[in-house]
Amino acid sequence: MSDKLPNEFADWSDTSIETRCIRAGQDPDPRTGSMIVPIFQTSTFKWPEVGTSTGYEYSRTANPTRAALQASIASLEGAEWGLAFASGTAAMREVAMLLNPGEHILMARDAYGGTFRLLDVHTRRHGIDVSMVDLTDLEQVEGGIRPNTKLIWLETPTNPIMAVADIAAIADIAHTVGALLSVDNTFATPYLQQPLALGADLVIHSATKYLAGHSDVVIGAVVGNDPDLFTRLQEQQNDCGAVPSPFDSWLTLRGIKTLPVRMDRHGANAIAVANFLNDHPNVAEVYYPGLPEAPGHELAQKQMRNFGGMVSFRMPTREAAIHVCNSTRIFQLAESLGGVESLIEHPDSMTHLAVSGTEFAIDGGVIRASIGIENIDDLIADLEQALAGVR
Ligand SMILES: *Cc1c(COP(=O)(O)O)cnc(C)c1O
Repeated sequence: MSDKLPNEFADWSDTSIETRCIRAGQDPDPRTGSMIVPIFQTSTFKWPEVGTSTGYEYSRTANPTRAALQASIASLEGAEWGLAFASGTAAMREVAMLLNPGEHILMARDAYGGTFRLLDVHTRRHGIDVSMVDLTDLEQVEGGIRPNTKLIWLETPTNPIMAVADIAAIADIAHTVGALLSVDNTFATPYLQQPLALGADLVIHSATKYLAGHSDVVIGAVVGNDPDLFTRLQEQQNDCGAVPSPFDSWLTLRGIKTLPVRMDRHGANAIAVANFLNDHPNVAEVYYPGLPEAPGHELAQKQMRNFGGMVSFRMPTREAAIHVCNSTRIFQLAESLGGVESLIEHPDSMTHLAVSGTEFAIDGGVIRASIGIENIDDLIADLEQALAGVR
């Protein structure tokens, strides 16, 4: 198992993504006919005889429920292989660990807060150089390259300001200098954006968010095409141990089946919310690439199917932002995103606390909302009452 690509699943590559969400990796169980992939809740597997295993030996190395999830996510991203991890952060850590001391990672200055802590604090402590630029500005990307740059770490759209970076152009820059491009595709999902087709080498997911989609699991994934990267990442994972449980893998497989219908509704609700906020006199600015005046609108139209379910906006003051976050009824005050329920949060005191007070801080007036799939009139009415009376 350890050095083979996950090729034991039926090939659905000639079908569209909606079909692959339901079928790819999710073959009925060959022994029992179970329509749903079983939860193989076992640590170890019986060998038929010494020297010959079934291909599964020990669940840290490989587990059939996890293998099904890996095949599913790889298929959705149009990738040769996929690996599932204990969390999105564990997936990111494995990618960062591909580098050696003395090498350099170039990342976005407005990356996810956890990415910042992982790379800027812990990865740097292990002798890997990390620097930040505005990845939406290609001159800054080129200017940020150093002789030892081995990895460009991209996230698009970004969290929470929803800036859009040009995946194809940055892939070209990375490859010209012999670096890899890794794209965190958590916000867009493969239904909206496929970074490998645009030239990325690795795609990272916090599958905790839209892929699983129901706020009931923490899990991550990395996919790619290069077999050497697969071997290195798989060995690293086996040796470092950050694997997801069979049950969490199963929950994610279940969530993925409805990804396209959920993303369609998230996107439709999000554009309606963005338009409502844009017209509201108490809101200073709205960050959503689906708005025609958004700086990333044209690029997002080019590289995304739709603009996704995340909408951020800025109130004139920190106090007003906190008032709104404390005043919604349907939008629940919580970190995380991508579930069917709408969430609201204040980045500077919650998700982005790690960069609060630094040059990378998020303005205290900014609110981030994960737009769920509830009735759109209910969502707008909720925001309307929370915004009433603040300036
Ligand atoms: C949540 C998130 C992560 C981290 O994933 P976990 O599953 O929470 O470990 C990474 N990137 C982005 C964009 C995220 O939103």
